[in-house]
Amino acid sequence: MPIFEFRCLECSHVFEKLFVNSNEEVDIDCPECHSRSFERVVSRASHVMGSGPGGSRPTVTEKSCAPGNKCMTLDLPGPTK
Ligand SMILES: [Zn+2]
Repeated sequence: MPIFEFRCLECSHVFEKLFVNSNEEVDIDCPECHSRSFERVVSRASHVMGSGPGGSRPTVTEKSCAPGNKCMTLDLPGPTK
């Protein structure tokens, strides 16, 4: 069962929520301040759910280098440490 992490936008409290059914809409509120304003925290440690049957590869949105290695080139103005 997937466990999602959320961070409350009001008090920055991070809490986890276990979803029995990922398609199910559940009532979530912050256990600290009961705010319903929160954002999803993507935890690298949590294991990736396969979406869809057949165990298709999950889409990983990471930096992918375009031809020319533009993603490796950082032209940042300012002093270097
Ligand atoms: Zn809160």
